[in-house]
Amino acid sequence: MEHHIISMGAGTQSTDLLLRGLKGEFGEVPTHAIFSDTGNEPKGVYNYLEWLRKFVDQEYKFTIDVVSAGNIYNDALAYLEGTRKRYGGVPYYTKNPITGKKGILRRQCTGDYKIRPVRRHIRKILPKVKRVSLWLGISYDEIQRMKQANVKWITHRFPLIERKIRRVDCINNFKAKRLPVPVRSSCVICPYHSDKYWLWIYENEPDHFDAAVVLDEKIRNYRGIKDECFLHRSCRPLKEVILDLIKGKELASKQLNIFPELIEECEGVCGI
Ligand code: SF4
Repeated sequence: MEHHIISMGAGTQSTDLLLRGLKGEFGEVPTHAIFSDTGNEPKGVYNYLEWLRKFVDQEYKFTIDVVSAGNIYNDALAYLEGTRKRYGGVPYYTKNPITGKKGILRRQCTGDYKIRPVRRHIRKILPKVKRVSLWLGISYDEIQRMKQANVKWITHRFPLIERKIRRVDCINNFKAKRLPVPVRSSCVICPYHSDKYWLWIYENEPDHFDAAVVLDEKIRNYRGIKDECFLHRSCRPLKEVILDLIKGKELASKQLNIFPELIEECEGVCGI
């Protein structure tokens, strides 16, 4: 027997996937939904998740399981301070202080904080399971993010893509049902953020932004890496970048312009 399970990012697409899935829009109805918490999502995501868990419990008697492999931010600091040996690395941008050559570190965090905790949980709740159809909330406009699982017992399924449902369709679906629209879900410290998103964090979650600045300053001396590391793709201190973004926003509002949307986003089950 194949089990149908949703890997929740608690963002727009995976939440829409869950709500449509529970209504039976994709044939089979999922039996479980699992959210792997990195401990570093914006407050808006946690508030939304709290509401969503109550909503699906009341409407469908359905439970969203929350699992975690730890707090990615605290773990990053502990690793830098030498009190933690191993750390599922975040893809920090790097710059050689002499040559100026830029690069990016390998991304291990998705596997450690998102993919493996979900798989471990499936094994725990369904110990004898042989086949799982793991539904991912990737929408039709993000079709390039489709990727099959690297284990035989899991098959990834992309119901939003099967039905050509785009992100905007998900948002319209919430509005049509008069349900709150989720905020974008991803770690606050994720280096894949667009400028627009960094500005959003600065304006809406100042505590989180300040914490990201602390980490950004500490990773200039990253254990085992000879280059300097940065959270922002420009390889400049986040504290400086945000000042430019604030100025740019003021200018943009005069020019009726906007910052580019997210141009690069994590694959796997991050940010969905
Ligand atoms: S959102 Fe970014 S930092 Fe968080 S686990 Fe995914 S890739 Fe890593």
